[in-house]
Amino acid sequence: MISMDCPTLDATDVFITCISRVRDPVLKARLTAITDDVTTASTDYVDKARNNRLHEVVRQAIIGDVTTAEMEKVYTQRMAGKKSPGRAAYDEIFNSSAKCLLCAQRKVDTLDHHLPKAHYPVLAVTPANLLPACASCNKAKLASIPATADEAALHPYFDCIENERWLHGQVVPGIPAVVKFRVETPGLWTQQLANRVEQYFDSLSLGDLYSAEAAEELSSIRHQLKGIYAGEGIQGVREELLARYESASVARLNGWRAATYQSFAENDWFCDGGFAHE
Ligand SMILES: [Zn+2]
Repeated sequence: MISMDCPTLDATDVFITCISRVRDPVLKARLTAITDDVTTASTDYVDKARNNRLHEVVRQAIIGDVTTAEMEKVYTQRMAGKKSPGRAAYDEIFNSSAKCLLCAQRKVDTLDHHLPKAHYPVLAVTPANLLPACASCNKAKLASIPATADEAALHPYFDCIENERWLHGQVVPGIPAVVKFRVETPGLWTQQLANRVEQYFDSLSLGDLYSAEAAEELSSIRHQLKGIYAGEGIQGVREELLARYESASVARLNGWRAATYQSFAENDWFCDGGFAHE
């Protein structure tokens, strides 16, 4: 996960901008009338998100006289729409990260509603509820509705799990070697946070994604490692891998690269020529 600050865009301003070009006067009046509901819900959302209490947010299908389908359209037509009035806000959030905040690997394709708009329509255009995400992660968590604090999905704007190491890899010898990834949470973390990180990793199938990246990485350095092994043997290979691990872990402590290089460096079979099998 990539943690980052919550967008500074004001939820009320974004909503007012999104509905600014509604032509139907009746619809415009109904939407305008729920502005305070959007403001209150958005403030409440941030308060609850800070304390992992988003499971307490009440689902409400009708806000004032506005239906879920109408609020979903405010998002799809008046915020995500290419020439829509809310598009600048959409783009600001979309462009705030080059990589999907959830898998930290694939490019950003869309904005993911952390609490889905189909179930929490009042939050359909609330910036704190919108995450730059790839299509795969967006699809994987489409209908996630947290029932308890233990089940609540990690929130990149409010949960910071990147200061301590929790992603680890292990080399599985073979032709070629593969890396299996696992979550191993620090002992001082609460069981609840540990559960949430496990669920995050499993629900987005990050182990498979990262194993595929590690395989590609190995094929890209195999030639170089062969050269080092020929000249300096197992120790030379290990030193190269440790240097790469150190650099990768400074860039992203829980990135697949750091976990991959550490697993490579720690494995005697791998350093002693195992890397060469393909
Ligand atoms: Zn993703």
